[in-house]
Amino acid sequence: MKFDLHTHHHRCGHAEGHIREYIDEAVKLGLEFIGISDHSPFFGEEVDHFKPWVAMAKSEFHSYVEEVLHLKREYQGKIHVLLGVESDYFPEHETLYRDVYRHYPFDYIIGSVHVSNGYDLFNRKRWERMTEQQAIIEKEVYYQLIQMSAKSRMFDILGHIDALKGCYPEIAHIKTEAVDDAFKVMAESGSVIEVNTSGKTKDCGGWYPSIDLLERARFYGVDVTFGSDAHEPARVADDWQEVKNTLKTLGYQEWCIFQSRQKRKLAL
Ligand SMILES: [Zn+2]
Ligand SMILES: [Zn+2]
Repeated sequence: MKFDLHTHHHRCGHAEGHIREYIDEAVKLGLEFIGISDHSPFFGEEVDHFKPWVAMAKSEFHSYVEEVLHLKREYQGKIHVLLGVESDYFPEHETLYRDVYRHYPFDYIIGSVHVSNGYDLFNRKRWERMTEQQAIIEKEVYYQLIQMSAKSRMFDILGHIDALKGCYPEIAHIKTEAVDDAFKVMAESGSVIEVNTSGKTKDCGGWYPSIDLLERARFYGVDVTFGSDAHEPARVADDWQEVKNTLKTLGYQEWCIFQSRQKRKLAL
């Protein structure tokens, strides 16, 4: 069964195309499930539309959900359209985000850390003139956040768990116990991580997470799923077959999808 649980569209201000175009591409490719998971608004900010180039306005969230639900009905019988969201994880706003999500019939919620130590991960400036000592601290802080996001049990899927390598590939080679500590908590909390193929569009190349981390995930018994993180319809299900083959080679036998926030395991 072919699926993709991570897609965006024009609302976030940095992706192209309408939701319908992503669904049509998925139908064309023979997918059985297409998950729509645009970036959550910044619910913790006072202004309605904080950083319009990153995420939709708070006031737009309801119509986002309505549009996906409408398309879910419209495409019934052709493809299963799933209602998701890629939520930021801000520990200080856990309750606030939980309270918003409670009101909507999500199939799943992806929790992603995009900001650590006060800076966006994809802000190239933060990585300039970084010493090795600073990089170790950056990595530890980031994996503590990943660990906290798992422990919160707010999310069905943890998004791109080594995205800090996106604009600073060298950080992937820094060894710290914080990574294994995070995997232990992910396993305990039943978190599912995505194999997100959008790393190939960044400086680091490859996927999030990289193969060695997928091996660690397997060692700790952390389940996996697939997401292209498409920001244009043409990237829907990008590398799906390669990911499936790689996971099998690593010893995985199944991967997961979600419907009405219930985990469903599919054979690889
Ligand atoms: Zn995005
Ligand atoms: Zn993301």
